[in-house]
Amino acid sequence: MSRGRPAPLLEVRGLVKRYREGEGERTVLDGLELELAAGEFMVLLGRSGSGKSTLLNLISGVDRADAGTVRLDGADLGQLSERGRTLLRRDRIGFVYQFFNLIPILTVWENVLLPMEFAGRAPAAAVERARGILERVGLAARTDTYPDRLSGGEQQRVALVRALVHEPRLLLADEPTGNLDAASGAQVLQLLRELSRGRHAVLMVTHSEEAARVADRALVLEAGRLRPLQAGEP
Ligand code: ADP
Ligand code: MG
Repeated sequence: MSRGRPAPLLEVRGLVKRYREGEGERTVLDGLELELAAGEFMVLLGRSGSGKSTLLNLISGVDRADAGTVRLDGADLGQLSERGRTLLRRDRIGFVYQFFNLIPILTVWENVLLPMEFAGRAPAAAVERARGILERVGLAARTDTYPDRLSGGEQQRVALVRALVHEPRLLLADEPTGNLDAASGAQVLQLLRELSRGRHAVLMVTHSEEAARVADRALVLEAGRLRPLQAGEP
């Protein structure tokens, strides 16, 4: 089997997800396949309601599939206990959302360190790393500020630091620029790329043509499966 090609960081096979709808069922994901290599920057497009967020929830183990498998970093999510999935998610995955989900009563610095405190560790190296990334995204001077004093773009940059400070293998981003003006969106996209390069894979759901252009691969979720973005699309 193995011929030197490393196993993908993320491998999704035959994924099916249905939701009950009235008396019947609606199939949102219908045998979806996906492979993501370590370090790859992948963009996922698709019209609203096509199942993009559903897919991210299955990949992170927040939700469970009706059929198919998700393997992340060698672990089969379906074979793990609830606790196992929680630990995998906490240690290996970072999240960025459309709405930044910062905690309003915590400062920038506290927001950034919070996930590591949950994990019961805020080692000196991690604190150092947090400072470094905050510096890199241009917010080193704002660490004692509260989120409501920041612009949307700044809040999203804090969320990005928070998502990366534990050095995840996979960053899941669900329309991270969807709530930003064009300039802030472009800046967040640029940081996503720069902070990622070779370190962790990125799976970014977006409507941004610019993101699709700069990604290593751009796929479209349609009729429950993924297909390559065509030239000239969208
Ligand atoms: P996208 O992120 O691409 O806009 P979603 O993954 O949020 O799409 O939703 C895909 C479809 O699944 C939609 O039709 C949505 O209404 C439905 N859906 C999502 N979550 C649920 C749920 N918890 N219960 C029932 N239907 C849902
Ligand atoms: Mg969505």
